[in-house]
Amino acid sequence: MEQKRTEGYRERLKDKKRIVVKIGSSSLQHPQTGDLDYIKLEVLVRELCNLKNQGKDVVLVTSGAVAQGKRAMNLKEADITDQNRIAMKQACAAIGQARLMTTYQRIFSEYNQMTAQILITKNTIVDNLNRYNAHNTFTQLLRMGVIPVVNENDTVATYELELDNDTLSAIVAALIGADLLILLSDIDGLYTDDPRKNPAASFIEVVEELNDAYMDMGKASTGSSVGTGGMNTKLTAARIATKSGADMLIANGGDIRIIHRLMDGRNYGTLFVARRDADFDLPGFVDKLNQ
Ligand code: GLU
Repeated sequence: MEQKRTEGYRERLKDKKRIVVKIGSSSLQHPQTGDLDYIKLEVLVRELCNLKNQGKDVVLVTSGAVAQGKRAMNLKEADITDQNRIAMKQACAAIGQARLMTTYQRIFSEYNQMTAQILITKNTIVDNLNRYNAHNTFTQLLRMGVIPVVNENDTVATYELELDNDTLSAIVAALIGADLLILLSDIDGLYTDDPRKNPAASFIEVVEELNDAYMDMGKASTGSSVGTGGMNTKLTAARIATKSGADMLIANGGDIRIIHRLMDGRNYGTLFVARRDADFDLPGFVDKLNQ
């Protein structure tokens, strides 16, 4: 009985119309060097263009600006001190974002797919006029068949005090009325405990109601030294996404072809089932984050 209902949730993923895909820094680069993994990027772009070819609206939320900026400037951990840490990260984001976007545009253009860059801060959502403008821009771009490529505007946001990209991608999903958010991570999905520390932790395939017991399963660490997301931020993202009416998937981005497998209704990752809350106040929720 339970199995049947779960299959139903998976089956309906095929009909999703507006999809936000988030990819983290660690899924985009070679662990040995920190340089971009072009094969992964190409597979990601191909998967997104293929969704687009099925008539779906697609948005990509990508990390990697800070990591690529550091890499471009050949910075070592020792170059970053307590005094210069935020300024360095912001400068690296400015350098890295342009490089990252150039790479994306080059690969998307191989599929003749137009892209656009949208950089967002917390204030974009909290401020009514900014949020209205951001919503209109997304809507117009999607109407024009463009794939918006989104990141936090780290150069003006006080990095680490503002948003992480898990939360950001859920905010984008809520803002544009997406019906599915896919978080590609370096972990298979949600476990009852951290599987890297507790071998008895069991995997959760479907979360129908995101109650406090699930929220407590969030762990602050990611196991990766790049990016800022852990399971906590993914659960915050799940709250925003499901309350705004989108299903959310956490899946392992080790093989990015998982995107079309998920869209075929196959049983990978953890699925958080949408539970629209008509009273959900997106700007109010975002305003309270990290306070
Ligand atoms: N916005 C950051 C970057 O592009 C990453 C933040 C995150 O991974 O959560 O480098």
